Amino acid sequence: MMDDLKALYQEVIIDHSRNPRNFGQLESANCHAEGVNPLCGDELTLQCLVDDDEVIKDVRFVGQGCAISLASASIMTEMLKNLSKAEAEALFEKFRSRVTGLTHTEPADIGKLEVLSGVREFPTRVKCATLPWHTALAAINGSDEKVTTE
Ligand code: ZN
Repeated sequence: MMDDLKALYQEVIIDHSRNPRNFGQLESANCHAEGVNPLCGDELTLQCLVDDDEVIKDVRFVGQGCAISLASASIMTEMLKNLSKAEAEALFEKFRSRVTGLTHTEPADIGKLEVLSGVREFPTRVKCATLPWHTALAAINGSDEKVTTE
């Protein structure tokens, strides 16, 4: 059963990395950020449109990287749409604690991000999975600094 689940998660990751959702330029963007994970070679630029109520109306990304980073960015962009900045930050906190194994309590519901939960067994992969989130939050918060996992 666990093996079936792992295989399914892998399929979803491969699908998202080969056909990333929301990949491309966002003409109407009003914030953006760049992120790099030098250890793996993941690089992405994220653009988003945030309205006056701090709700993420649209988000797109371009870049290159490993399957984990691309799948994470792809799934993330699907989930961020129509979330408020605070909701996006809260979701990332749940996801991060899940993949770093910091929480010992009942696992939080992280929705589609569950497919990436296996990276917790591979500490270097955690950076691949969290890079898109660090980059997205930098963009939303208007940070000009390039995001790096190192
Ligand atoms: Zn990577």
